[in-house]
Amino acid sequence: MNSTFAELLLQEYGVSQPEDIDLEAIAYDQGATIKYRRMDSCEARIIGHGTAAVISINNSSHPNRQRFSLAHELGHWVQDKGAISLGCARGDIGPHRSGLLNAESSANSFASQILMPDYLFRPLAAKQPLTFATAEILGKRFNTSLTATALKLVKLGHFPGMVACYKDGILKWAIPGPDVPRILQPVPALDDDSQAYALWKAGAQLDSSPVLQSADTWIDCEGAEDHTLVETSILVAAGVTVSLLWWKDESQIEAVSPQ
Ligand SMILES: [Zn+2]
Repeated sequence: MNSTFAELLLQEYGVSQPEDIDLEAIAYDQGATIKYRRMDSCEARIIGHGTAAVISINNSSHPNRQRFSLAHELGHWVQDKGAISLGCARGDIGPHRSGLLNAESSANSFASQILMPDYLFRPLAAKQPLTFATAEILGKRFNTSLTATALKLVKLGHFPGMVACYKDGILKWAIPGPDVPRILQPVPALDDDSQAYALWKAGAQLDSSPVLQSADTWIDCEGAEDHTLVETSILVAAGVTVSLLWWKDESQIEAVSPQ
């Protein structure tokens, strides 16, 4: 399944603006009933047979997370109509887990695409600074989390950037945009000059205005100190920070790219 599939589905339903993306209506039309309930063993579940399915969503999670989980289960359903019985763990569902070739990853790609389809997201994101302030504005329109929206911004690649997540100061995952050379890897542990480090230590959201950083605060690469990047960071859970890095000045990208 590729991203176009979700876009075609939305276009079939006549979706022409973010506010029209009614996942529950789409699920219902696809034969799926949704139940929001307490779930202990997993984050979301789908049980389907023939043309009908029941999707259960953990109602104690954040509304944006519930929405992503619904989109994820819908991805399983449209891909595997027939006999299906899946319980999806919290760790299986997430916008940063879409690069692998398996059913969970494929359901995550579908979810990102149906929540923020390129044909609606791309024009709204054009020329907007690669910061969490932009992610917040777009996230409000698309009903998506700051992290999911930031990832979409980076993957679209209007500007070169990267999303990096740290837990207790240690790198958990990082996803670069399409124009960021692989040699530019994020530091394995948060630098104490970074805004993310201050957030982690404070344990509370601080001023999240963009900060111009020396690139070596974030990037583990020779000569990084000669370049800059723009950091915005947020605290998403206790000890967990997500940073959006933007090579507003693209000199570091140019310096490491083959001539
Ligand atoms: Zn799943």
